[in-house]
Amino acid sequence: MSSVELATYPGLDERVSVLRLGETVDAVFVRTARFDVLVDTLDTPETCRAALDLVAVEADRPLIVVNSHMDWDHFWGNAAVAGRSAIIAHANAAVRFKDAGVREVLRRKSSEDSRFADVELCAPTMTFTDRVRLEGGDLTLELLHTPGHTPDHVAVWIPELRTCLAVDAVERPIPKVWSDDPEDLRSLVSSLRLIESLEARHVVLAHGHTDSPSVAGRNLRYFETLARRVGELGRAVPVAEGSDLPNGLELSDIVDGISELSEPMRRFYDRFHRANLRATIRSVHGAGSR
Ligand SMILES: [Zn+2]
Repeated sequence: MSSVELATYPGLDERVSVLRLGETVDAVFVRTARFDVLVDTLDTPETCRAALDLVAVEADRPLIVVNSHMDWDHFWGNAAVAGRSAIIAHANAAVRFKDAGVREVLRRKSSEDSRFADVELCAPTMTFTDRVRLEGGDLTLELLHTPGHTPDHVAVWIPELRTCLAVDAVERPIPKVWSDDPEDLRSLVSSLRLIESLEARHVVLAHGHTDSPSVAGRNLRYFETLARRVGELGRAVPVAEGSDLPNGLELSDIVDGISELSEPMRRFYDRFHRANLRATIRSVHGAGSR
């Protein structure tokens, strides 16, 4: 059962529609003068079709699809649009698509939930390496490579509306770095700085149901605080799940509002935090520390 619904935010232009799949993920639909753009295809072709029905997409209007990155909840709906649309993604997405891990996630998830049994994975059909501009006439969509959460991550900037579709480069309460390689951490921080420098009025996220432009800055402060406290500690600390973290290094010591999250969400973001902490420790204390 798909339960996708239309959502928006106060002041968000009516040409931009948020397609919300419960707590799982948001995709975004943008109607320009020349064509429609769908940023992400949600988690199954069925959900993606239901989402396109909600925005009453017309069969004879050109549709361009963007895959923000190759995480399951953002592109498994591709089969719903592959027959009619170009699917644009970063070149690193094509590399990730070929990775056996992508099919492994599908095997695991379809064994847990029959909803995923019929998912046919479809690769992006058009890739770029730095940036792309989609000239919609009234609106421009600039696709920006914003790696760090994943190597292929793309955010979308609509300058006329001062609106950034940040997807997973920004997340409330915190985003997650791709690996404990310090290079990925640097990429994520650079991507956050890039998004902050846009001075957007709306920063629309894929998780967390917010378009608050302050989240990117808060994510940056989190990583700065993490680096400072890890530096002050003067040594690497064990960060395995379940282990106690030193004073000041628990997620709730650094970010407000963690205690208000549900228990599963707290556990979920604690895993993100420990991944970020591992990368920070390696970045501050060197590659040998874990
Ligand atoms: Zn995501």
